[in-house]
Amino acid sequence: MVAVRENLIEIQAGIAQAAEKAGRNKEDINIIAVTKYVTIERAKETISAGIVNLGENRNEGFLAKFEEIQDSATWHFIGSLQSRKVKDIIHHVDYIHSLDRKSLAKEINKRSQKTVPCFVQVNVSGEESKHGLAEEDVESFVKELAVFENIRVVGLMTMAPHVDNPEDTRPLFKKLRLLRDYIQKLDLDYAPCEYLSMGMSNDYKVAIEEGATHIRVGTKLVGKEI
Ligand SMILES: *Cc1c(COP(=O)(O)O)cnc(C)c1O
Repeated sequence: MVAVRENLIEIQAGIAQAAEKAGRNKEDINIIAVTKYVTIERAKETISAGIVNLGENRNEGFLAKFEEIQDSATWHFIGSLQSRKVKDIIHHVDYIHSLDRKSLAKEINKRSQKTVPCFVQVNVSGEESKHGLAEEDVESFVKELAVFENIRVVGLMTMAPHVDNPEDTRPLFKKLRLLRDYIQKLDLDYAPCEYLSMGMSNDYKVAIEEGATHIRVGTKLVGKEI
């Protein structure tokens, strides 16, 4: 497999190019290396390459890697999360990208002893197979979170459908950005909603052009081996 360091150079060039095109500062874009397809060794290599943010989408994979890497990484939970499994990971995660229902918020709030920065997941494509709230339900959902003192809504997250031409995802990313702007303007103290978690291996450049602050890159950065 190509060294993470080498892949990273390419991704960084892509980030710089997209940021410049959009008139943005490339330092405002955080790379989350999605290590769900790779071994613990490869995840360690990722840290050595200078990446601090790691993303996992399942409890098992997350815990296996956390055990070895601990606080040498900032941990992002990016997959759908079952309420009954919250307690297993909650003390180790730094960000949750998949907050999509009140019962989950309630469980996170109950199990955590401190504020948990969360992204609200939105299904902007409307595909049935995708997790996340419908666009029109996001405002009322965020308002409902006011009762949970340990939940902080730091941003919105979406997963675009896989398409051959990444350009086709642009309207979806734009939709999420406009929704982020709208939620931000509500000016809720527990929901600063500054960030946009969007863009993966195939479409991260378009996502950055549309305002992504956190891109979640697996295949193109760390590869796919397990
Ligand atoms: C797997 C995954 C990614 C990374 O996908 P790649 O196409 O390999 O970059 C990003 N976000 C989520 C939520 C994922 O599950």
